[in-house]
Amino acid sequence: MNFLEERIVKDGIVKPGNVLKVDSFLNHQMDISLMEEIGREFKRRFADKPVTKVLTIEASGIGIACFVAKEFGVPLVFAKKSKSINIDGEMFVAEVESFTHKNRNQVIVSKRFLSPEDHLLIIDDFLANGCALQGLISIAESAGATVEGLGIVIEKGFQIGGRVIRNLGYQLESLAIIDGMDAETGTITFREQ
Ligand code: 5GP
Repeated sequence: MNFLEERIVKDGIVKPGNVLKVDSFLNHQMDISLMEEIGREFKRRFADKPVTKVLTIEASGIGIACFVAKEFGVPLVFAKKSKSINIDGEMFVAEVESFTHKNRNQVIVSKRFLSPEDHLLIIDDFLANGCALQGLISIAESAGATVEGLGIVIEKGFQIGGRVIRNLGYQLESLAIIDGMDAETGTITFREQ
């Protein structure tokens, strides 16, 4: 088991509905040493990529993406969730369905912060059905930017997102891939990587 898998086994809580809670160390209370290690690991996996910006989505991607951006020495841009239908031409927009909240949000990024010169590393905490990543890829495409890769902290490998994104031809790196989890026993099965 790698450092993250060990932590998931120790402190993760399996909830009904295929939801894993990691809010004691990743996305509510944050273990900063672990975040630093995550940042270093993504830097190692994407070391050969000419990354100019890290792109993520609010809210829980931001903390992790900060540490990745610091490793690459580049800015972090996060897509904001917006209820407003009145978006002027200043924004790149994508529709994203939330896995955890079961609603649809428009996510927006100001056109000032992404351009065709950008080489993006897209980061998020979880990958389930892939809606969040597809929204971010669509924003990158709207900007004419290059997606150099995608980094996920926890991929739920029994949901379709990973397959969808890899089939699109992107380098997708997940630090832990869960192949199964059981809310009754709390058992979590990781994919050998
Ligand atoms: P997707 O868009 O791939 O269906 O879902 C990814 C998004 O949903 C992530 O940004 C994450 O915030 C949230 N998410 C999906 N599955 C889980 C989960 O099991 N636990 C938590 N805490 N968040 C999840």
